[in-house]
Amino acid sequence: MPVVGYVYDPLYLEHGTPGHPESPARLQSIISHLERSGLLGQMVEVRPRDATSADLELVHSRELIARVRETAEEGGAPTGVAWLDPDTYVVPVSYRAALRSAGGVLAATDAVLDGEIGSAFCLVRPPGHHATPIQAMGFCLFNNVAVAAAHALERRGLERVAIVDFDVHHGNGTQDAFYSNPRVLYVSTHQYPFYPGGGYWAETGEGEGESTTVNLPLPRGCGREEYLRAYREVCEPLVRRFRPQLLLVSAGFDAHLADPLAQMLLDTRGYYEIASSLKALADGLCDGRIVYALEGGYDHTALAWSVRACIDTLLGNEFAEDPLGAGPSVPGINIDTVLAAVRRAHGLDNG
Ligand code: ZN
Repeated sequence: MPVVGYVYDPLYLEHGTPGHPESPARLQSIISHLERSGLLGQMVEVRPRDATSADLELVHSRELIARVRETAEEGGAPTGVAWLDPDTYVVPVSYRAALRSAGGVLAATDAVLDGEIGSAFCLVRPPGHHATPIQAMGFCLFNNVAVAAAHALERRGLERVAIVDFDVHHGNGTQDAFYSNPRVLYVSTHQYPFYPGGGYWAETGEGEGESTTVNLPLPRGCGREEYLRAYREVCEPLVRRFRPQLLLVSAGFDAHLADPLAQMLLDTRGYYEIASSLKALADGLCDGRIVYALEGGYDHTALAWSVRACIDTLLGNEFAEDPLGAGPSVPGINIDTVLAAVRRAHGLDNG
């Protein structure tokens, strides 16, 4: 029986402002589902720590860290809410929550690398993948997954870490952090064109990092069939070729057909199958070492069932039918051209 860890902390619920989609209720929905279904009881709790400045500085500038802290702690009148960009709020507790969010993924990564657990799902917020080395944006304060990847490489002696990002938005912050770094493979599937604007297939990395950034820009309306093709035909062979020693996952669930912020048609079973693909990669390449970190996902029912679907793959459980049902197949969606472009750009067709 694989030992699967989870990270959670009540502090994650204190970062919030009324009416914003990136809300504490997201996490409450997941936790109550995992409790009700008994899955939480099948997992081992990993206590988060608070990321230190030295941890964050593996990825972020001192100026950004100071700006997030000062903006949060000074707060805004009259409600305490201040804005780092038009989408990205902070309240006085947000800096502490963000340290514990990044520290949660660090703790899970250490527990996996130390062999205390086999894999983990980090139920953290605020999310991270839009935060660049120098800018907080897109609901994200610090880049939780990027900090964990840098920690694994620079402090734990790993040579290669792969990050797979299935959030519906392109993880521009993670891409920026490792764009010229040959030791991090970053693979993103995302709706395109869409927020935050980048993620075209021709963005493949630069310098020594050429070909270690892999973007799969998918048209709106893609569902399970298209996503699974993207994973089978591009993600799987490229991750295998890279031979990571650890797999990190930026796990956003806003490509779900029920999500209010995007226009993809992935269903819960699709998440189960993507997660099964990632688990098979981790099992085959890195002793099953896989750490998920929550990113987006704004329909609370779809979010809870889809997180559960990923956890079910880690626990070795069958797919649990969900109340939202299977997604429709939309005629006219054709991703042949984009998949061919990505395969060509990354030398997958050169024998
Ligand atoms: Zn997203």
